[in-house]
Amino acid sequence: MSKDLTIATIVGARPQFIKAAPFSRLVAEREGVREILIHTGQHYDSNMSDVFFDELAIPKPDIQLEVRNDGSGDITGRMLVELDRLLPTLEADCVLVYGDTDSTLAGALAAAKRHIPVVHVEAGLRSFNRAMPEEINRVLTDHLATLLFCPTGTAVTNLANEGITRGVIKSGDLMYDATIFARDRARERSSILDTLGLTPGEFRLATVHRAENTKGKPELERVADYLRQKAEEMPLVLPLHPRTRTVADRLGVSFGAVRLIDPLGYLDMHRLLAAAHEVLTDSGGLQKEAYFHRVPCITLRSESEWVETIDAGWNRLWTSPETSRERTEITDYGDGAAAAEILDALIGRMVTTAAV
Ligand code: UDP
Repeated sequence: MSKDLTIATIVGARPQFIKAAPFSRLVAEREGVREILIHTGQHYDSNMSDVFFDELAIPKPDIQLEVRNDGSGDITGRMLVELDRLLPTLEADCVLVYGDTDSTLAGALAAAKRHIPVVHVEAGLRSFNRAMPEEINRVLTDHLATLLFCPTGTAVTNLANEGITRGVIKSGDLMYDATIFARDRARERSSILDTLGLTPGEFRLATVHRAENTKGKPELERVADYLRQKAEEMPLVLPLHPRTRTVADRLGVSFGAVRLIDPLGYLDMHRLLAAAHEVLTDSGGLQKEAYFHRVPCITLRSESEWVETIDAGWNRLWTSPETSRERTEITDYGDGAAAAEILDALIGRMVTTAAV
């Protein structure tokens, strides 16, 4: 009997749990493939981590590291030390990483240095802004990866422009798979609209956590001012990321009439998304999820990686003027079966080439 294909998957932050969910569930059902799920511990609060494992039926991590953002030096370096020790003991055929967080780069670098093929899911995204920590993580991970799964055609082009054409596969977007999984469950199980006393179509939903908006008082004050004004027009709910809450408390930034709540689980988030009048966010994932629910979005940044949402008229940068543009459908994100595309291609590559 041939040996199982063993994938060591590294996750650590909220958006990665969401991307991992459809893929890990599928792997768990497939014969001949085994996943070792490693959680770095980057996000560890129950409302930033456990809730996603529960609600999205993600298998519990096989290995739980505890690398915390506790101010004792850069978290990427500390994760690298731990992963460098761990990965050679696992005898995995490849290491799979998602997206653009510090866990992504640490995992990719640890694997590449140990000559384990790196699989990057959500490859090729670019903001072309190297001041963003996520941009550094993406660029370096793509250049270390052997197999690169791109959610969009633009991502494929971005890689080609950097000379990366081998091992590049357009797969659609796992976050669309995750949204389809959550959509009906959210409607059935979430009572968040009642809990918060919100009327569908008559509130805005916001999130803020990017370093460029939270790194100092002027930056956070600028966003808070924008949101305060919006909250004068219509109720505005802001599930506050722990980083933003810490910075706001430390710097004494007030959000006025904005309704601040704790971070939400995925089903509550999708219930609010589906019913919101508009989404205001600096999150990457939320820009697309707003589109998946056909809710217009304003991105609280000066650029976006998800250019399709802007081109199709569903999203605009807060620095761009408001225009009445026709809204069109986006076909690039696939049909909700990205997990199967990725797994089939991964197995195909491993079997036919004997090395990814
Ligand atoms: N999200 C959530 N609860 C919240 C805020 C966000 O479930 O309180 C989800 C959101 O729906 C999206 C993901 O978290 O799927 C986005 O994560 P985040 O904004 O942390 O990261 P980014 O997308 O910017 O990488």
